[in-house]
Amino acid sequence: MKRIIVTGGYGFIGSNLIKILLKKNYKVLNIDNLKYSSNKYNLADLKSNNYNFLKIDINNKSKLLECFRKFKPFAIFNLAAETHVDRSIDNPSVFIKSNILGVFNLLEAIKDYRFKTNKEIKLIHISTDEVYGDIKKPERSDEKHPYNPSSPYSASKASADHLIASYVRTYKLSAIITNCSNNYGPRQFPEKFIPKIIYNIINNKKIPVYGKGKNSREWLYVTDHCDALIKILKKGRSGEKYNIGSNINLTNIKVVKTILDVISKNNIMNIGKNVKIKFVKDRPGHDLRYAINSKKLKKELNWKSKISFDKGILQTIKWYARNKKYFDLIPKKTFVKRIGLLK
Ligand code: NAD
Repeated sequence: MKRIIVTGGYGFIGSNLIKILLKKNYKVLNIDNLKYSSNKYNLADLKSNNYNFLKIDINNKSKLLECFRKFKPFAIFNLAAETHVDRSIDNPSVFIKSNILGVFNLLEAIKDYRFKTNKEIKLIHISTDEVYGDIKKPERSDEKHPYNPSSPYSASKASADHLIASYVRTYKLSAIITNCSNNYGPRQFPEKFIPKIIYNIINNKKIPVYGKGKNSREWLYVTDHCDALIKILKKGRSGEKYNIGSNINLTNIKVVKTILDVISKNNIMNIGKNVKIKFVKDRPGHDLRYAINSKKLKKELNWKSKISFDKGILQTIKWYARNKKYFDLIPKKTFVKRIGLLK
């Protein structure tokens, strides 16, 4: 049985990935420092002997080395990160710590482990399309597109990508970087756009939309992302970068309208009187459009997204409507108040 570490496994994408890996018969060790966006509810229903969890910060090199020695993973999916752009505007330092120094530590731990044991660990590092910055219509950024990050979040992710590429070239570490577009689906922390909309509808509240709602994002259902990651683990080439996207771009206002429409048409819940779109002050430095070209992944690994936005959003809404407990476990103060505005 293949042994694999997932870092950040109590977060949104990590928890979805762990469930899929276990179904595919991997033995999984989840490493997470249990920061605000982690949620024990995300993996509470797991009943597998092939799953273990250790509370470790990826900045702790000696603990990482100890668990490499004991668990002997053949690969690591690194999803541990600070992930919310608005938080990075208010407090960039934690982003530097987890997203840059944390990745540096992880690389050093993998390098030391190889030196001491002669064993290779393959790193699959999960990065973002935000590293490419604002992309003008109708362009889509491919893997060779220059990096042009706009927020402390995307700059920290870009830095990590560069560090990893340097470790592949200089130390011949085995690593792949994946740059994915916006994910949506079950178990996403409600400070993020789609779960926030659904939370506000469930709670009969106004739906805040930044600026005029014209920002455009490429939306990918989370299990499509996980399937791509597993394909890349199996068949991707070390030192390569792979974009992962759906080719489906929607403006924020279109996303809100679609969610309201899908709820009404499918009679999922009552839409209260207070549920109205409210345009609020835009995010400082807000990129208008991200759009990636993921033809390389299709051509080389024969992967393409399977789940349409209409299908994925219906599944997503139904999950949050059925799992209100998920929201109950999250302190309101961590996601209700507007943040990320310059004072
Ligand atoms: P998330 O915020 O839901 O989860 C992040 C997890 O990492 C949390 O459980 C947190 O406790 C853990 N963590 C943070 N810092 C850590 C540290 N120093 N040590 C150990 N654990 C730590 O994030 P997500 O949306 O699941 O994103 C996962 C990864 O995917 C991130 O690297 C993010 O940049 C990337 N990504 C996300 C999206 C998206 O739309 N959500 C899109 C592209 C890429």
